[in-house]
This record gives sequence, C-alpha cells and structure tokens, in this order.
Amino acid sequence: MCDEPTSALDVSVQAQILNLMCDLQDEFGLTYLFISHDLSVVRHMATRIGVLYLGRLVEVSEGKALFQNPQHPYTSMLLDAVPDLDMTGRARTQVVGEIPNPIDPPSGCRFHPRCPLANARCMQESPVLQPTAIGESACFAVEEGRREAPSTAAAGAK
Ligand code: SF4
Repeated sequence: MCDEPTSALDVSVQAQILNLMCDLQDEFGLTYLFISHDLSVVRHMATRIGVLYLGRLVEVSEGKALFQNPQHPYTSMLLDAVPDLDMTGRARTQVVGEIPNPIDPPSGCRFHPRCPLANARCMQESPVLQPTAIGESACFAVEEGRREAPSTAAAGAK
C-alpha cells in the first residue's frame, strides 16, 4: 500500500520514484494500492481507479476510461480542476462549498450540498455503486439517466 508516496517531492525526484516503482512492479509482479490526490500521477500509474468522497467510494473504473468519460459528478469536477491546455476555452465546473464534517456527514448522498445535479431524492437516500458503461458509480443522476455534464449544467445556469 502506497499512501501519497510522491507528495512533497519535486517533479524530477517524483519521476524517479514512480519509474522505480514501475520497474519493481515488472520485476516482481507486484500489485500496488496507490493513494494520491495528484491526478496526473494517478493517470500515469493506475490501471483501475476508485474515487473517494468523504470516506465513500463514489466511482470505480478502468484508468483511461475514467479520464475520458467520468460518470460521477464529483469525478467530473475533479477532472475539470486539472490544468490542461487542450481544454482551453471549455466550460468547467468548479467544486464549490466546504467539505462537510465526516463525523457528521450530510444526509442522503454525502455530495449533495455541493452537487449541481442534486434533487430531493439525493438529500434523503444514499446511493450505492451500480454498474455503468465504464465501471461503477454511486449516483442517482447516473442511475436515472438524468446526468448532464456538470460543466454544461453550470454554464447553462450562469
Ligand atoms: S446522488 Fe445526487 S447529489 Fe449525489 S452525486 Fe448523484 S446527483 Fe449528485
């Protein structure tokens, strides 16, 4: 288990550590459970990704598919926050609001106070992981087919 193994390292040392980990993986057939807030590192290292919000898994997907077609609104908003020159001019949705207290989490879906797709059901019921086209997602908007790209939803609301 590797918990933030490259945080606080400069980029060149970070690359050396990641390359060493990949070499060790090839040589010894290792599996890593890799925990990171750095999505560029996750993209480089992971073959299967789980996205956590407030202690709950909200999305599980194969690596490339998650970055190309995120299902859960929180995943979409996280990816919107990554600087990317290819996305210049594209509408993005900011993750707004404060992170709730995990000791006293919000009712229903824990993401509902910050979610642009939240409705009354989201405030009362807690979604569980359900199969999607690319993996699994815990979201009523995905489940009910009323998911719109959050960027589009927010841009329309402006
Ligand atoms: S269940 Fe509702 S509040 Fe939670 S992420 Fe999905 S749409 Fe947003």
